[in-house]
This record gives sequence, C-alpha cells and structure tokens, in this order.
Amino acid sequence: MLEVRPGLYLGGAAAVAEPDHLRQAGITAVLTVDSEEPDFRSGAGMEGLRSLFVWALDKPETDLLSHLDRCVAFISQARAEGRAVLVHCHAGISRSVAVITAFMMKTDQFTFEKAYENLQTIKPEANFIFVCSYRMNEGFEWQLKLYQAMGYEVDTSSAIYKQYRLQKVTEKYPELQNLPQELFAVDPTTISQGLKDGILYKCRKCRRSLFRSSSILDHNEGSGPIAFAHKRVTPSFTLTAGSQAQCTSYFIEPVQWMESSLLGVMDGQLLCPKCNAKLGSFNWYGEQCSCGRWITPAFQIHKNRVDEMKMLPVLGSQTRKT
Ligand SMILES: [Zn+2]
Ligand SMILES: [Zn+2]
Repeated sequence: MLEVRPGLYLGGAAAVAEPDHLRQAGITAVLTVDSEEPDFRSGAGMEGLRSLFVWALDKPETDLLSHLDRCVAFISQARAEGRAVLVHCHAGISRSVAVITAFMMKTDQFTFEKAYENLQTIKPEANFIFVCSYRMNEGFEWQLKLYQAMGYEVDTSSAIYKQYRLQKVTEKYPELQNLPQELFAVDPTTISQGLKDGILYKCRKCRRSLFRSSSILDHNEGSGPIAFAHKRVTPSFTLTAGSQAQCTSYFIEPVQWMESSLLGVMDGQLLCPKCNAKLGSFNWYGEQCSCGRWITPAFQIHKNRVDEMKMLPVLGSQTRKT
C-alpha cells in the first residue's frame, strides 16, 4: 500500500487480503476496481467499513470513464467524513492508479499529465520491498483525457461522451446482434415537447425533420488520419462550434430513423426516411471530413441536403434560418 495523500492509499489485492493491514492504517473505506469483489465480512473489526465495488478488467477497451464520477464521489465523501480510504485493484498498477489520478485531477484541477506525473513521484516508504511503476493502460489514459475535456465530470449529453460511446460500440461491432437503444437520438418527428429551442435540421427536398443541433458531434478541423484519436484529445474539442467553415458535412450521432440501415453492414448511404433522397453516408470504420479530419465511426449528413430551422423558444414554432 502506498499513501498518496494523507489518508488516501493505493494498493493491490494484498492490501485487502489482511484486514489487519487496513486496521493498522485506519482505513475504513475501500474502493475496489477489479473483476473480483473482496469479502470483508470475515474480517473482525470490519463492521464499520464502507466499500464500493466497480467491476472492471485491466484492458484498454474497459469503460472506466462511465464509472469515474461514482468513484471520485465515493472517495471525496469518505474523506469528508474523516475516513482513510484505500483504492485498490489486483496489481495496484493500472485500474486503481487511473481512479486515483481522476480523483487528483478533479480535486486539484490538475491536467491528466500533471496528476499522473505527480503520482509517479510519490516515493514508497523505505520498507517497501517492491519497486513498482504505475502504468495505467493506454485506454484509461485516453479516457482520463476525455474526463478532463468534459471538465472533470462525465457529461453523457456532451459530444465528447457520445463520440466515446459510439467508439466503444464500434469496438464490438459487427458481432453485435442489436445496437443499444441509448445510442440513438430520438427521432425529432416523434417528440413535440423538448423541441422548444435549438435548431432542427430538415430534408431539403421533402421537409421531413431529421435531427437536432444537439446531435451534432463537433470536431476540430484537421488534416491527416488522426481523427478523434487517443493522443489528440484536448479541451478545445468542445469549443469548436462555428469554426468549421471547411466542413461540408455534419457528423452526427445516429438517429432512430437510421437504425434499420446501420445494422449488419459496415458502411452505406443515409437516405431520407420519407423521400429517399441521399443525405449522406455512414461508416463504422470512419470517414474523412472535407476538412481532413477522420471521424470514427462516422454518420455524416451533407450540409447542402438539409435546411436549418430555428426553433422559437416561446411559441415552439419554426422559422427558416437564412
Ligand atoms: Zn426527404
Ligand atoms: Zn471537418
């Protein structure tokens, strides 16, 4: 076990194997990020122990990001109550390190690099036998950078999270039998409420409502096949609206009316569900935007195939935006 902050410990499975160790360090809260949940019931004096178990494998494709808010809140709350906290996984090298790094990022408003570096410099006590190096897997590094880009809070409605979730699905595609329903934005023709502001995009030919501005996944203009790559995520990702003059397409999240055309194939056209006009294309492996940036996966609608309709907040009526 390593004390990374006063009363905040990092460790592996050995740290929880002996309840005595926890007692000696005064630990009364344990966060386990592992594939096996430790059994604390057998330990004497463990009655007041607070614990949280988050099932996670140490693999780049593991979705740790979706659990970070819960993990950070658990640590923060326990510490606010004056408890000493242990965050552990199996080896104490990757999963637990990622969670502690997220905690340090949020509480100290550190960048990922700064928090991770900070953690590396903490020296174990003299009697520490193993020289261990913390090495979280690259998938977790990428997720922590997204966490930073979202402002240290997982915003499931943000373009960053939606793109992340799409990529997670793509990793399992095409073995998937069904696409998760939460992947799809609600068809704007099926909702009358909640459409009071923002911009609605309609088929230029037949006027059918296709998607809302909240479905657009913005990207930085770029060149070369970098896309939304692990290395290139910066906070500026969220601040690109209006700067995409070179982009001739909107890259959007999938909308319900696309579902039947997306399943079972890797790429294809996106047609208007009413008049069959060609609107754009999709590709689970990604497509390149006219600005040069690769987007993976890609669901793109050509800007010249749709009209923007500004929704008026008061009346909920539509006017054409020029
Ligand atoms: Zn149409
Ligand atoms: Zn572009």
